[in-house]
Amino acid sequence: MTPVKYDIIVIGAGSAGLSTGLFLAKTGFNVLMIARSDEEIGGECLNDGCVPSKALIHVSRIVHNAKLAGNFGLEIKGQVDIEKATSYVYSKQEIIREHENAAWLQEQGVKVVLGEARFSGSNEIVVNGETYTAKKIVLATGSKPRKLDVPGTEKVRYFDNENVFGIKTLPKRFLFVGGGPISIELGQAFRRLGSEVTIIENADRILAHDDKTLAEILLNRLTEEGIKFHFNVTLEKFSSANEAVIRKKNGEQFNQSFDAVFAGIGRVLKLESLQLSKAGIETKDNKIVIDKYLRTTNKNIFVCGDIAGDLQFSHAAEFHARIILNNLFSPLNKKLSNDHMSWVTFTDPELATFGLNEKQLKKKDISFIKLEESFEDDDRAVVDNYRYGKIILFINKKSWLKKQVILGGTMLAPHAGELIQELILANTSGLDIDSIFNKIYPYPVATRINQKIILSYKQQSLTPFLKKVLRIAFKLFS
Ligand SMILES: Cc1cc2nc3c(=O)[nH]c(=O)nc-3n(C[C@H](O)[C@H](O)[C@H](O)COP(=O)(O)OP(=O)(O)OC[C@H]3O[C@@H](n4cnc5c(N)ncnc54)[C@H](O)[C@@H]3O)c2cc1C
Repeated sequence: MTPVKYDIIVIGAGSAGLSTGLFLAKTGFNVLMIARSDEEIGGECLNDGCVPSKALIHVSRIVHNAKLAGNFGLEIKGQVDIEKATSYVYSKQEIIREHENAAWLQEQGVKVVLGEARFSGSNEIVVNGETYTAKKIVLATGSKPRKLDVPGTEKVRYFDNENVFGIKTLPKRFLFVGGGPISIELGQAFRRLGSEVTIIENADRILAHDDKTLAEILLNRLTEEGIKFHFNVTLEKFSSANEAVIRKKNGEQFNQSFDAVFAGIGRVLKLESLQLSKAGIETKDNKIVIDKYLRTTNKNIFVCGDIAGDLQFSHAAEFHARIILNNLFSPLNKKLSNDHMSWVTFTDPELATFGLNEKQLKKKDISFIKLEESFEDDDRAVVDNYRYGKIILFINKKSWLKKQVILGGTMLAPHAGELIQELILANTSGLDIDSIFNKIYPYPVATRINQKIILSYKQQSLTPFLKKVLRIAFKLFS
């Protein structure tokens, strides 16, 4: 049978597939998008990731804040009805699903085929026995949660991000395996909803990709909320449906009781069923071999989103899509660079990070100044009770020739993800730190901390000579 021809085929309809496919269809291209099923359109983000997690976090914050009212004499009693919480989550997913489904995509000009795609030739794929071909193919098939495979796993009440948002009863004792962002966000949410949460982690800290000091402050906050942590430990096995055997680095073992387990132990790429070799796409260590332009070893096939094996965020998928779209139309090809990437761990307080960190700056041999500012004396932090907050910024060294710009930074505070937005803008656009210094911030907006850290730096860098000049000017002109 002659294959059906398209300009572009996009395999997968998650953040990555939707970003590429929709743009191309709107630009008038003949786009085919393959999704496994209508329900899977929207991918991990809508169905099992960002959207349900942020909705559940929202519910848990309401519950937590309601309990805090007890500090002012208003006692809140009772238990959370988890089914009400998950139906809130579901209702929010349904709103977004209104514009992330097959019929809607067809209306936008994307041809949608539902089924499992696999390669059958260099520019050719097969879905439900039908063959399709295109000049370019975008592989946007995402990632899956890594499953626990210790002995006894089959005995336990097991959750990961694929089933936790449909949870029917709240576990009394909830054991979270892994101290990465997914575990930490959901661990706090379940603690606030009423579970006794224990988090175990191989390493000696949480959130390995974030600043250690800020992660430590967050850890203290989470501990104060009643979450228990065990670091430098490995889950050996489940000796029963309610008991885990955990080994410390020094070889000692201890038992941890629980009613349910959440596995937040990383993500894996499912490559086998795609039959990549038929398209000449090479893999290494279960990753697709790609170049800086997100091309596979078949130069007509691109990777976009989690499948790229790069940073796994929805906005990273959107960023990949932008690079691919640019390179489809421009002779000036853009390379993948995460120098201006950002991410937020949506705990309360949030931990937000952007640009280059200290290690990356050193590796790139960029000389920098590290600025640190505590929120202790920030008026907004005082009244809103988050004096524990902290911001770190990296700026380049001052010289006559170069403006001083923000190279990267990180912040721990409630809504830090929103507060750092202007810093991300300054970082991405290469704005001088004076753009923050000279801005007039309404008092007492929380973002004033962004100016305070620059102000402190400027004050510290006033040399005795400059101070003398100021004294002379004062005498002359005042
Ligand atoms: C709990 C959790 C919370 C998260 N929170 C955030 C957050 O707050 N912010 C953020 O930026 N990121 C977050 N992420 C990460 C984010 O969800 C992912 O990075 C993003 O969804 C990746 O998009 P993608 O399009 O690459 O893959 P996916 O969303 O996984 O989409 C891939 C699609 O391809 C389909 N597919 C796979 N194989 C085939 C095939 N052979 N044929 C047809 N279809 C196929 C899949 O069914 C799926 O629908 C979170 C993730 C999790 C798990």
